[in-house]
Parts: sequence; C-alpha cells; structure tokens
Amino acid sequence: MRLAVLSDIHGNMNALRSVLVETEAASCDFVLCLGDVVGYGPEPREVVETLRRLRARCVLGNHDAAAVCREDAGTFNASAAMAVSWTQEQLDRRSLDYLAGLRPTRRTAGCFMAHALPSDPLSWRYLSTPAAAGLELEAMSERVCLVGHTHVPMIVERIGARVRVVPDTIVRLRNGARYLINVGSVGQPRDEDPRACYAIYDRSERTIVIRRVEYDAEATRAKIIEAGLPPFLGDRLLKGV
Ligand code: ZN
Repeated sequence: MRLAVLSDIHGNMNALRSVLVETEAASCDFVLCLGDVVGYGPEPREVVETLRRLRARCVLGNHDAAAVCREDAGTFNASAAMAVSWTQEQLDRRSLDYLAGLRPTRRTAGCFMAHALPSDPLSWRYLSTPAAAGLELEAMSERVCLVGHTHVPMIVERIGARVRVVPDTIVRLRNGARYLINVGSVGQPRDEDPRACYAIYDRSERTIVIRRVEYDAEATRAKIIEAGLPPFLGDRLLKGV
C-alpha cells in the first residue's frame, strides 16, 4: 500500500496538480493531507474540491481554522490575515463545510497525523528541532507521525533514547524505531527550493521518500496578483522562501 502525503497546499492548484500527476503515476492508494489546504494561494475552492473528490484523509491546519473562524486571524501577519478574508469570500458553502469538518488530529494506516505539534495540535506551535520531535515520538504509540506547518521537510528517527535527523530524502523504516516526518509544503515551500514538496509512504517496502516536483510557480504568482492578494505571496513562490 502506498500513501501520498501532502501538506500546506495553501490554495496553490498548479502545485497540487503537478504533485497528483506524480502520485497517480506512482499508483498511490490514497492521499493524506496534513492541513493548511487554503490560505495565501489563489485557488482555495478548487483545492478543497480536489481533496474532496480524492477522498483525501485530511486534518485541520491553522489557515483552514481561520478560514472557518475557528481561529482568530488576529494572530496572523498582515499578508496572511488579508489572505484569510479573501479566502473566506472565495469559498462556497460546501468548501466551508468541508474545512469546518476537519479534525486537528487523525490516526490512519498506522500513522498519527497532525498539522503542527502532535501533543498539542491547536496551539499551532512549530515543531522544528530534532529534540522536540524526539519528545513527541516518546509519547507516541504509532510508529510513524506525519506533520507539516513549518513548510520545511525533515525526517527524525528515534530508537530507544537515541534521536537523529535522517540526512537524506529517503528513510527505510527499521524495527523498533519511530519516525516523525515533516513532509514540507506542496504550495509554498520555504527551504529555498521552490519545487512542490510531498512524501510517499510505501508500507509494503517500508520506505518514506520526500519528493520534489517542478510546477508553474509563475502562473500561480500571476493568479495571486490578478486576485489582488499581496504580491509578496507570489514572489516568495519563485524563490521557495
Ligand atoms: Zn502552512
């Protein structure tokens, strides 16, 4: 069984399309989505509809929560807050209901899914150090924990008390080990690589691979500007920052 693991699509339909071409070619059985379906990007409704059609197993992100007023957008920076109100205007009833129905965590196919911090998902705190990831894994009963939120991919392995960052884009799951995988961002990568980022978890092969795919970021930028969203949100896509 192969799982396509996506996060932080942020209304970037061009990026999502390119990822799905690859995950379909790789015969993924289903799609997991770690939240932030909307926010920042120019096609939030199309992204929500695509995930619904695919029957993606999805959790709530902070931008999704803000779009359905479950989170106060006052904590967002100016560009993000503006994108939240613009996004709310674009979403129809069905899309809003979809986002409102998302839970902050989910267990599926032997994985624990959360957008941000697994032990306190609605705090929206960033989980960016191996030490913090190690603590999360200590408390976890699942072997694989999947997160997003930072927009930067990371693979952390814990065996007993030993925690290490896997310095590669592929990890072969070892007996007795637990893994925290940040799958990066489909629609707004921030690790200076502008290509869309996602992961494939092959449960039969016991591998998780972080993958990158080129997409037409210029076209997404043009749509952001055309929509009247802050141009900075388009510019950053070209640099992956
Ligand atoms: Zn995000």
